[in-house]
Amino acid sequence: MKPDAVPASPEQLLRAAGLRVTKPRLAVLGALATHPHAGADTVLGVVRRDLGAVSTQGVYDVLHVLAERGVARRFQPAGSVARYELRSGDNHHHVVCRHCGTVEDVDCATGEAPCLDASDPQGFVIDEAEVTYWGTCPDCQNSNETRTNQQGVSNA
Ligand SMILES: [Zn+2]
Ligand SMILES: [Zn+2]
Ligand SMILES: [Zn+2]
Repeated sequence: MKPDAVPASPEQLLRAAGLRVTKPRLAVLGALATHPHAGADTVLGVVRRDLGAVSTQGVYDVLHVLAERGVARRFQPAGSVARYELRSGDNHHHVVCRHCGTVEDVDCATGEAPCLDASDPQGFVIDEAEVTYWGTCPDCQNSNETRTNQQGVSNA
């Protein structure tokens, strides 16, 4: 979150996007606020815990309309389910762990998005640069070291 970002209430986010404020929409926004980069299944679980019976399709529909109106951002790393987050419109990037699928935000650059200036946009008007960094998260680095050491012992 950028330091100058003004936190908007969920109701404000919906109204600003021209959407009616409904309980399922508020519940989905709440789920995304506490579970950034959640997949639809995770969102569904959190919403059901908060609201009780909610149809799977209902939650999918809310996620769809939130993404369509720019309230949420949908992205899908290769090999992963689609994930959703509230931090939209800043063209930030993601770093994904190859081993456990952990996703973290990576800022493009403070206040601007230099990667949107393609060196040769081929006449396109560029509005998004989807950059995914792949690597090994700190937790998996630790467990890899353990595994490598163990293998080293058994191979010796
Ligand atoms: Zn990992
Ligand atoms: Zn993100
Ligand atoms: Zn960038």
